[in-house]
Amino acid sequence: MGIPVRSRGRSFHTVPSYPPGMVRMTVLASGSKGNSTVVSSARTRILIDTGLSCRELMKRMKAAGEDPCALDAILITHEHQDHVQGLAVTARKLGIPVYLTEPTHRAWVRWMTPQKRITYAEWLEKRRAEAARAAQQQTAQDSGSSVCSSLDPDPEEQAAVEEVLSEPQRDPTALPAVEYFQSGNGFRVGDIAVTPFTIPHDAVDPVGFVLETEGVRIAIATDLGYIPSNVQVHLRGCDVLMLESNHDLEMLRDGPYPWSVKQRVMSRVGHLSNDAASDFLERSYDGQAAWVVLAHLSESNNLPELARISAERALRDRINLLANRLLLAEQNRPTEAIVLK
Ligand SMILES: [Zn+2]
Ligand SMILES: [Zn+2]
Repeated sequence: MGIPVRSRGRSFHTVPSYPPGMVRMTVLASGSKGNSTVVSSARTRILIDTGLSCRELMKRMKAAGEDPCALDAILITHEHQDHVQGLAVTARKLGIPVYLTEPTHRAWVRWMTPQKRITYAEWLEKRRAEAARAAQQQTAQDSGSSVCSSLDPDPEEQAAVEEVLSEPQRDPTALPAVEYFQSGNGFRVGDIAVTPFTIPHDAVDPVGFVLETEGVRIAIATDLGYIPSNVQVHLRGCDVLMLESNHDLEMLRDGPYPWSVKQRVMSRVGHLSNDAASDFLERSYDGQAAWVVLAHLSESNNLPELARISAERALRDRINLLANRLLLAEQNRPTEAIVLK
């Protein structure tokens, strides 16, 4: 199946939604049950990842004081379910373009498309049954697919699938507009400059983002097995650093996951542990960020207090970092908004 790539000129908001110079960032959800963050400048508002159902995303945006109808674009880091669950419905409902890499788009299209050997009706029923089963599961299953999607089954998945199925739309992969980017090549969305960078993770072409607007620099780096030097370069000079602090190693080792899943989480293309995050903060971080946001915490293999203690210890030992504020992104509700300038 060919992938329709439609690019169109889009006029970004000419009436500022916030005072000039103000930049806001709100983590709507973070963790293996769904990830989404909204970043707004005076003239542009973008969503990074759509890992919740459209309805839940809209609800959380409103709760966070953000107008979903004012969104200009969606940016996708990688194709794992906890980052794309609500993508199709959200993009279609709002009629906004989706920015992602071509390999990620293809992987998402494959995931969303019925296989030829079954009918569309059979595929719909299969996805409905899968979602229902996932919602009922209480323990992780070793599905052999990906680190993200195989863990922490989720009722939100059912909601997202039901949304797709309830649309009259026959092609579940149709998007209002698709804009391809390549890792390392910067692009602009309205007045936000975006630099995608490659991260080590078990997806086809995963990226983190640096967003720059109004002199503010925000880095988002979650879903990475370790922090290679190319990523460290992008995390320098940031006003906001959103960094994965996924698991406590001992909790993961002693926890409920099958050994093969534990190995994948701990691998170089898995997720960043509390120790790995704090090791970076202690040894390689330049201390520039006003806010450090710990993100993608595992509900099964971590505790917010463990992640916090680990990061605070790393920051406390560096006397010049007292101005850094630490925030823990949450799975089940929007995290406190970060307002800059
Ligand atoms: Zn993830
Ligand atoms: Zn992932």
